[in-house]
Amino acid sequence: MKDISCKLLVIGAGPGGYVCAIRAGQLGIDTVIVEAGKPGGTCLNIGCIPSKALIHAAEEYEKIAHWAEHQSPLGIATAKPVLDFAKTVAWKDGIVGRLNGGVSGLLKKAHVKVVQGWAKFRDGKTVEVETETGLQVIRAENVVIATGSAPVMLPTLPFGGPVISSAEALSLSEVPDRLVVVGGGYIGLELGTAFAKLGAKVTVVEAQARILPQYDTELTQPVAKRLRQLGVEVLTGAAAAGLDQVNSALVIKTSESKEARLPADKILVTVGRRPVTDGWGLDQLVLDMDGRFIRIDDKCRTSMRGIYAIGDVTGEPMLAHRAMAQGEMVAEIVAGHPRSWDKRTIPAVCFTDPEIVAVGIGPDEAREKGVETKVGIFPFSANGRAMTKLGEQGFVRVVARADNHLVLGVQAVGQGISEMAAAFSLAIEMGARLEDIAGTIHAHPTQGEGFQEAALKALGHGLHI
Ligand code: FAD
Ligand code: NAD
Repeated sequence: MKDISCKLLVIGAGPGGYVCAIRAGQLGIDTVIVEAGKPGGTCLNIGCIPSKALIHAAEEYEKIAHWAEHQSPLGIATAKPVLDFAKTVAWKDGIVGRLNGGVSGLLKKAHVKVVQGWAKFRDGKTVEVETETGLQVIRAENVVIATGSAPVMLPTLPFGGPVISSAEALSLSEVPDRLVVVGGGYIGLELGTAFAKLGAKVTVVEAQARILPQYDTELTQPVAKRLRQLGVEVLTGAAAAGLDQVNSALVIKTSESKEARLPADKILVTVGRRPVTDGWGLDQLVLDMDGRFIRIDDKCRTSMRGIYAIGDVTGEPMLAHRAMAQGEMVAEIVAGHPRSWDKRTIPAVCFTDPEIVAVGIGPDEAREKGVETKVGIFPFSANGRAMTKLGEQGFVRVVARADNHLVLGVQAVGQGISEMAAAFSLAIEMGARLEDIAGTIHAHPTQGEGFQEAALKALGHGLHI
């Protein structure tokens, strides 16, 4: 097979890699991307997209099931719904398939050459790929490592049999009767909530003292309350210790060092993700590492000239939109544009029920940094639109500097609040002050008014509270 030479080679077509390749192609850079699996990476195939499809289907099912059992204040009566889970999964797979095609189409439109197979470095400028038709050697002036991440496996609970990762959880053929989730973080709670709504008896085992330890308690309380309503049992301060194969149960150790057994049909382990740094010839390179991650600077350059790294392989936060932003930036740097990482914030959204959005810093972090703040909180129980949607749980919280009112952070918890992440991020990115948000006309009736009201409250003159 003839060797390929190019200006830019991207390894991995996840959100980081494919965005980098598309932007590079748009800029006229001769670009090749290598992908072992399907275009879109973890996010599109076994992450963000299929999980949100399942979460939505579960929400719809639970809503109808709830009104079948309880009298609806909306005056709607319905029979108990029937779930055809195979159809649900097929619908989810259809969305993934359409998006796979979409990414391939965008790469083609940008004149990016796609090589299918597993890439391995021979040296810093040469990569070989085992393709279906033989070994393909690719020489490149610049290489972007975008190999992503994989689920962390617990040594006491290796994947296999009833012990599954998020990838298998997203392609189950039926809803398990009893699901034990190890890890009450992002994936555990997003998927745990979905399966509880679909009818599974869900137990969450979390090693820390509370669920979603990355968010403050004020934000996670409404989620914990809803989990109780859904009948999800949450065991905090408890760690997975092993599998009792005879009784098909998870063995856990509580904080008091007591052992307990949790019978389960499936045990979903979601205790974090690790960077994919094995199997592609890291040992052929001399890259500085940052713990398990590849160390990068503010231009995503590694310690080797001409080698960049982006996305999950470079560290936290392991989020698709961070990977995409890095990918876009690196393409422009390779094209000679003067770019560096100048983002003020990377929004975080947890698609639990209710959803959580966190942008910038919260009151606790501001206190730790010694910054004097003004904080305004507006509850959705005082928001007309939230009432009309039975979505009165939750609030918007704005954190600003006390001296000049510069907005440092916005956090919110509430039904469908993920869609407000854009407004919160924009405010911080544009350097908004409390007065800017308070002075912006927010359409009525919308949940977005909660943002304006939180700013007004921080200024000391909330109108609707
Ligand atoms: P990846 O998406 O992991 O892509 C890496 C790609 O590289 C893969 O396709 C892999 O096959 C390929 N590859 C690796 N090595 C090689 C090689 N040597 N040769 C060829 N190809 C190779 N993030 C969000 O922002 N929002 C969410 O809602 C969200 N939900 C998630 C839900 C779940 C269940 C999971 C697991 C993750 C979720 N994430 C979410 C995280 C998100 O998926 C990742 O942050 C994102 O995919 C990282 O993108 P990436 O490009 O760095 O790597
Ligand atoms: P996570 O870091 O969010 O949560 C892992 C949880 O497992 C933590 O709360 C931790 O205390 C707990 N834990 C660790 N070891 C344990 C043990 N032995 N027993 C019990 N609990 C234990 O990790 P995740 O849920 O696997 O998600 C991985 C990453 O994927 C996230 O950090 C995030 O970057 C990304 N993700 C993002 C989204 C989103 O943006 N909505 C959704 C899913 C995943």
